[in-house]
Amino acid sequence: MRGRKSRRAKRQEFEQMQAPSIGGVSVPRGDGSTIVRVRRGSSLTDFADKINADPASLVTVLIHLGEMATATQSLDEDTFRLLGAELGYEIQVVSPEDEERELFSSFNIDLDAESAEEDDEDLQPRPPVVTVMGHVDHGKTRLLDAIRHAEVAEGEAGGITQHIGAYQIHTNHEDQDRAITFIDTPGHEAFTAMRARGAKVTDIAILVVAADDGVMPQTIEALNHAQAADVPIVVAVNKIDKPDANPQKIRQQLTEYNLIAEEYGGDTMFVDVSAREGQNIDQLLEAVLLTADAALDLRANPDKDARGVAIEANLDRGRGAVATVLVQSGTLRVGDGIVAGSAHGRVRAMLDEHGDNVQEAGPSRPVQVLGLASVPRAGDTFLVAPDDRTARQIAEKREAADRQASLAKARKRISLEDLTEALAAGKVETLNLILKGDVSGSVEALEDALLQIDVGDEVDLRIIDRGVGAITLNNINLAMASDAIIIGFNVRAEGQNADVADREGVEIRYYSVIYQAIEEIEAALKGMLKPEFEEVQLGTAEVREVFRSSKFGNVAGSIVRSGEIRRGTKARLVRDGTVVSEKLEISGLRRFKDDVTEVREGFECGINLGNFNDIKVGDVIETHELREKPRT
Ligand code: GDP
Repeated sequence: MRGRKSRRAKRQEFEQMQAPSIGGVSVPRGDGSTIVRVRRGSSLTDFADKINADPASLVTVLIHLGEMATATQSLDEDTFRLLGAELGYEIQVVSPEDEERELFSSFNIDLDAESAEEDDEDLQPRPPVVTVMGHVDHGKTRLLDAIRHAEVAEGEAGGITQHIGAYQIHTNHEDQDRAITFIDTPGHEAFTAMRARGAKVTDIAILVVAADDGVMPQTIEALNHAQAADVPIVVAVNKIDKPDANPQKIRQQLTEYNLIAEEYGGDTMFVDVSAREGQNIDQLLEAVLLTADAALDLRANPDKDARGVAIEANLDRGRGAVATVLVQSGTLRVGDGIVAGSAHGRVRAMLDEHGDNVQEAGPSRPVQVLGLASVPRAGDTFLVAPDDRTARQIAEKREAADRQASLAKARKRISLEDLTEALAAGKVETLNLILKGDVSGSVEALEDALLQIDVGDEVDLRIIDRGVGAITLNNINLAMASDAIIIGFNVRAEGQNADVADREGVEIRYYSVIYQAIEEIEAALKGMLKPEFEEVQLGTAEVREVFRSSKFGNVAGSIVRSGEIRRGTKARLVRDGTVVSEKLEISGLRRFKDDVTEVREGFECGINLGNFNDIKVGDVIETHELREKPRT
């Protein structure tokens, strides 16, 4: 007997555990110590996946806890903790860095151990890595060119001939030959995208501000990013060759953002340059080195296996995957087995910015690496693996994790709709996009910028897939399946693929300028918003006399006081300042004996309001129409 009873009790307990009813919904429940790990930035849908629950129920539970969130919105740690406590789970939020660390430790590679153990004497000075940031058209590209050419002037054989996403120059500073590495990728978007993925590559930011234009929105954005990343800034006041250049004004404006020039008692170096004339480029390089020496301790151990970040990558027809990596510590050598993001391989050859083969690359050195089996993403970290097998396994695990993440994204779409129905909170329109680009830097930059477009809650933009290389049949199939538009950034759908897309009605849009892509997508999103209407008054007429007609009902003999009265428009009747009737219509309009379509201000007319006959002398008839409000 006792046995049976306790079994039943246990069963009851179990059932209660399984299905607590909170606000009328049931959610599988933990026992208080059940640990659930979610990635930083996860949503209720991600969490629901892990505990086998319905995301909509979790939304309801959260509402009962006094928090509002949609199923796909990313939640902060506190909200997860609150939800976990309610449902009996201990929720651990893991950062991408933690995940990396765990992944590697499962291969017996300790990402922290080495640097912690490093002796001071192992560390050697390394060149600063510089990113040029600033508002569009202020001269970032031109400045990077000018710096590149300064190097040629210094006598480097052949000059910098290859755009590999980064380059290194040498300059004489205090009688020493010093190197500086410049990241040469699409502006600060790439910087932001890399930073968002946890890769810190930049030591110093050069903030370019055009002296004839001043501080602009992206100037502020760039400096916010640099300051948030704790990266010292050198300001290049550009275009000083222009007659309307006002470099002092730039210094003045930037004081508001805590960038105070040295000459005003601050610690930020401002250098007036002309990228076009190649003027003061040396001084700018000087300022970068002075700032690096004063603010940073840039040292790394070159005598170990290399680690760093992929900053640019593309698929080359002849050479396969080509990735530019920045070595951050250790030395990378031809023949090393490496893993970069979900790509792995053996370094077959390395090329520098002069197009020359190099055998090894030490800290702060950017090199193009050939030999990876697939294309890594900008911002992916790379490291030399102990052996090929480990490299492949790490890459495979990362790829599986990526796939999982994009599957979760694809699922979100559906659950979002379910949720919306459940909450009956008006339908959310979704624009699905697939991004393809020539280099990973631009794909990341585009994705980052697109996700920042905000046209309100009614319309949602989702990037369901992204990648480097031509638009494939796979991309087109996915677009068909999920009603997505494909964005080709400097890449196309070729031959048969273009035909398939055409035949299946898959929209492919081609761009080569990021801003243009963003503008058009933003316009498309706005176009998806439901139209908003506003009432526009068309005219008023005062009733002077009421004629009774057996055929038409009452006719108001009126004079048009303002605007015009048009047949067929909506009207209301106002008596002594009070609306007597709404939703009327000008159903008949006459001048003398003729039917007319409109009567202008100052003219008399006969107005018929259909079945509505309660018209008195002195009444005012107002007409209006609804016009679509343009979105701003
Ligand atoms: P980015 O969008 O910041 O990369 O700007 P660009 O480098 O493409 O430069 C935008 C425009 O400004 C181009 O037409 C450049 O030729 C011009 N420009 C850049 N630097 C200078 C300069 O020092 N003086 C003058 N007069 N024009 C410049």
